[in-house]
Amino acid sequence: MLKAWKSIFAELLTADKQTDSLLSHETASPRLHSEEGRTVMPTIEHVLPIKSNQMVRVLRYLLDSVLACAGSLLVTGVIVVFHLYPAIPNISIVYLLVVLALAVVRGRYAAILASLVAFLSFDFFIVPPFFTFVMYRIEEWIALAVFLVGALLTSQLAGALRERAEQAYRRERETRQLSEVVRATSREAQARTAELEAIFEAMIETVIVSDARGEIRYTNPAYRTTLALEEDADPSLLLLDTRFEWLALRDTEGRLLPKEHMPVMRVLQGERLSGTHTIDLVCRTRKGEDIIHNFSGAPIRDAAGQIVGGVVVSRDVTGQYRLKQQLQYSEHKLRSLVESNIFGVVVVDLDGRMYEFNDRYAQILGYSRDELLAQTFNWLHFVPPEDHEALGQAMATVLSTGAAPPYERGYLRKDGSRVPALVAATLLDQERRLVLAVILDISEQKAAERRKQEFLSMVSHELRTPLTSIMGFIDLALLCSDLLPRPLSPEAEQLLGKMETGLKRAIGQVEVEARLVEELLEVSRLELHQFELSLQRENLVTIVQETVANQQQAARTRHIELVLPPDEVVPVLADAGRIGQALTNYLTNALKYAPIDQPVWVHLEVAGSSARVSVRDQGPGLTAEQQQRVWERFYQVAAPGHHGPDRGLGLGLAIAKTIIEQHQGQVGVESAPGRGSTFWFSLPLADGSNQA
Ligand code: ADP
Repeated sequence: MLKAWKSIFAELLTADKQTDSLLSHETASPRLHSEEGRTVMPTIEHVLPIKSNQMVRVLRYLLDSVLACAGSLLVTGVIVVFHLYPAIPNISIVYLLVVLALAVVRGRYAAILASLVAFLSFDFFIVPPFFTFVMYRIEEWIALAVFLVGALLTSQLAGALRERAEQAYRRERETRQLSEVVRATSREAQARTAELEAIFEAMIETVIVSDARGEIRYTNPAYRTTLALEEDADPSLLLLDTRFEWLALRDTEGRLLPKEHMPVMRVLQGERLSGTHTIDLVCRTRKGEDIIHNFSGAPIRDAAGQIVGGVVVSRDVTGQYRLKQQLQYSEHKLRSLVESNIFGVVVVDLDGRMYEFNDRYAQILGYSRDELLAQTFNWLHFVPPEDHEALGQAMATVLSTGAAPPYERGYLRKDGSRVPALVAATLLDQERRLVLAVILDISEQKAAERRKQEFLSMVSHELRTPLTSIMGFIDLALLCSDLLPRPLSPEAEQLLGKMETGLKRAIGQVEVEARLVEELLEVSRLELHQFELSLQRENLVTIVQETVANQQQAARTRHIELVLPPDEVVPVLADAGRIGQALTNYLTNALKYAPIDQPVWVHLEVAGSSARVSVRDQGPGLTAEQQQRVWERFYQVAAPGHHGPDRGLGLGLAIAKTIIEQHQGQVGVESAPGRGSTFWFSLPLADGSNQA
């Protein structure tokens, strides 16, 4: 393949060189011509005719004339001086030597001129009467005429011979020059071929050189690697038709390309694919992978301007295309999000200037577009004064981490009203401090939530009142039964016993019901921000001891092990009732979910500036996800072993967490499925001292 390419290029370049040199000799104007698609060399006869110089030619004639005259006159002089005539009657033969010499050395003209001069000077100076051209004797006339004809013939013959020799010499010189030119041209062609070859080999773009029919004459290594063509691939794979089949060329919209639109065919039809006329096409590699290539190319023409082949170059733009597509996709996503007007979207700088926003943003805040875009407008106008500090923190978060996670905020509208919104922001440009913020108006959700909480609060209150009365009536009934005058008949005693058992069971159920209602009330208080603490300096040891004792009292059959620190007093600033409530929740859960024959451990320990209370059980344990979610309101683990005898509402841990966090403490759980759980909370020690 490489050799074939070399030969075609060498041929083309040589032809070019020849054409150049030929064109420079316009007199002969020979041209390369094509024979069945092959370039043919012109014959030597057409090449390099030697131009004779006019001046040289005149000088040459002058010299020939001088030599001819001088030679003949010299011989005449010798004959006259030495009186050789008529002593030697055929002395005129001496002139023939001169004529012959001149014919050989100087050519036909000099010889003929010498013959004429010899004839005339002999007649004029030597044949009597002297100094006239008159001759009386007929034999002298004949002798001179014979001499002249002989001399002329000799000149003609010798001249013709000389011209032949000269022509042969000239031809030889021309041939030598021509072969020199051919050698130089072919050397240059080889050098250029080697250069081109090195360039093509080094290119990462694929290159093919084809003949006039589109059949490949050369491909570079990049072509083979890009299209996954094996080194020993079947050469028929490179045939135009086969290539068209396996390349499966398509436009970027996936439409199959007709054969005549293949880049190589377009080039062979005379198109130049360059600049803005390059084409992007999808092609299939031998491994069946689709890649996108950008094709450029140009036809190769011979000296007559006929297309003898084509060069097509292509480079892989798959990455760029994918990137472009991804960009378009993300742009489309962002645009549809912005244009959907579900969220308010705004681009601002952290100094308060607004650059872009959607209609929803302006609508949430009750301003017109023009008002918001006014140079003087500062988006800090939307932030209520009490939120300025929180806003500063959010800005710092955006600058340091690149984003602010969603948080709730109140916005000041143009009419002075407030609108609750969920805001999230991300940093667009660190240098210009540009931020993209998304806000969601949550006024409706807030209103619905408030209504729900109010309803919950009302329902809980309404439920608690009759429960209290039921409890009172049951207590009264039990009291009455105690007060009955004894002894009673055995039947009456038995009946009374059954009634008391029933009433006690009813008390148990009412207590469960009361606890649930109490939890509901607690939650609604939390939501409506009616949850208040009365903080006092307390000894945590006492709170823990009392809570454990209460639980032990309620579950006499169970074993609760309490481990206390060596210090008798662990001071905390706390609402003792609420801390007891949180610990009670941990304890009731542990007793509820752990096997009844297993103890429950309660630990109080002091570490650094905080005290930690933990409750450990050997219950079903929790997965990592469950450990996260148990703190959510109404969450209950839906797995076997997690349903206690009296099912709660999934509120206890949420309430405990709120209580502890309001004491600036923390809650947590360490657990694994099947390996029990340890629920803990920590509280800061009061004044950093452990003395109450
Ligand atoms: P509930 O009143 O349902 O117990 P909580 O908020 O106290 O509500 O607990 C939430 C859920 O966490 C429970 O329903 C239970 O599935 C799980 N859970 C709580 N404590 C434990 C524990 N010690 N062991 C296993 N699961 C527990």
